[in-house]
Amino acid sequence: MEIKYIKNQNPGKMPDEDSLGFGKYFTDHMFIMDYSTEKGWHDARIVPFENLSIHPACTALHYGSEIFEGLKAYRRADGEVQLFRPMENIRRMNNSAERLCLPEIPEDMAFEALTAFVRSEKDWTPHKKGTSLYLRPFMFGNDETLGVHAVHKATFVIIASPVGSYYKEGINPVKIMIEADDVRAVRGGTGYAKCGGNYAASNRAGKKAEEKGYAQVLWLDGVERKYIEEVGAMNVMFKIAGKIVTPMLSGSILPGVTRKSCIEVLKKAGYTVEERLLSVEELGNALKDGTLEEAWGCGTAAVVSPIGELCYKDVKYTINDGMIGTVTQKLYDTLTGIQWGEIEDTFGWTCIVK
Ligand SMILES: *Cc1c(COP(=O)(O)O)cnc(C)c1O
Repeated sequence: MEIKYIKNQNPGKMPDEDSLGFGKYFTDHMFIMDYSTEKGWHDARIVPFENLSIHPACTALHYGSEIFEGLKAYRRADGEVQLFRPMENIRRMNNSAERLCLPEIPEDMAFEALTAFVRSEKDWTPHKKGTSLYLRPFMFGNDETLGVHAVHKATFVIIASPVGSYYKEGINPVKIMIEADDVRAVRGGTGYAKCGGNYAASNRAGKKAEEKGYAQVLWLDGVERKYIEEVGAMNVMFKIAGKIVTPMLSGSILPGVTRKSCIEVLKKAGYTVEERLLSVEELGNALKDGTLEEAWGCGTAAVVSPIGELCYKDVKYTINDGMIGTVTQKLYDTLTGIQWGEIEDTFGWTCIVK
C-alpha cells in the first residue's frame, strides 16, 4: 500500500509528562484513508493533525455509523516503542464494521496503516512510568445523503494522544454501581461492536452513578436484567471461592483484548477460569457469605481496576475490605510488565515498531 506523507511544518511539543491526563493532547499527524464502493479503500495518507471537513448530511452524524478502537504504544526501557496484540484490535474493528455495515479493511492493510502511523508519531510516546501513546483508530460512514442505508462512502482515521498513568497515586479500588434500569446492549444488538452509539446509550446511567459518587456502572443483561455483563468501558472478573468467574461473550458484551489476555495469564498460572452466566443474585450471595474474594474491571486504559465497593439497589457491599486483591495485583504486574517490556513476553503478544 502506498501511503502519502505530508509533514507537519508546525510541530507541537510534548507537554509535561506529569500532566498528560487522558486524550487531551494530540500528536502532529493523523492517518486517513477513504472508501467508496467504486474505488474500495484509497488515498492512504499521513497528514498534519487538523479538523476534518465533512458534509452536513454525513451518515455518521445522523445515523450513528461509527466504530472505533483503542490501543496503546508503550515505551520500553531500551527506548524502543512496542504495541500489544494489535491484530486483536484490527480483527475486532472488522467485526464491528461488519455489524454496522461499514467496509472492512484487509488485515495486512490495517496493520501497515497502524505501524506506519506509529513509526511517524513514535517520538510522542512518553517515557514516564505508566505513560503511553494512546492510539484511536476510527471509521465512520460518510455518504452525503440523508437516505438510510448501508454506507457507500466511509473514512478511516487514526489519531494518537500521549496519555498519563491511569494510576497516579497508586492503584485505588473503585466504587461501582450496578445499574438496574438502563441497559447498554441487547441480544441481537451492537453490544459486541465497539461503536460510538453504545456509549451514547450508556451516558445517562454513567451520569447518575457519578452523581451518587460511583466511578462507573456495572451493566446487567438487557433481556432479563439478571446477568452481569460488564463495567462502563471495561470487562469484569470476579474471584469467587478460589475460582475466576467472568461473563461469557454472549454477543452483548465487548470482547476485550485485556479480558482475553487476563484469561490466558490466569489459566497459565493454574487458575480455573469460568466464562459463563453470572447472575446478580449469585454475586449478591457471594458478597453476603464472603466467598466473593476479589472483583476487578479490565480494559486497555486501566489494565486492571480493582473494585472495592459494589452498590445494588441502594445496598452497598465492600469487597476485600476495599483493598486490591492478590490476583488483581498479580494480573496488573504481569500485563503491565509485558506491555512496557519489563518482563519477558512468553506469550508473543508484543511487537516493536522500528
Ligand atoms: C473497549 C472496551 C472494553 C475493553 O476492551 P479492551 O480491548 O480490553 O480495551 C470493554 N468494554 C467496552 C464497552 C469497551 O468499549
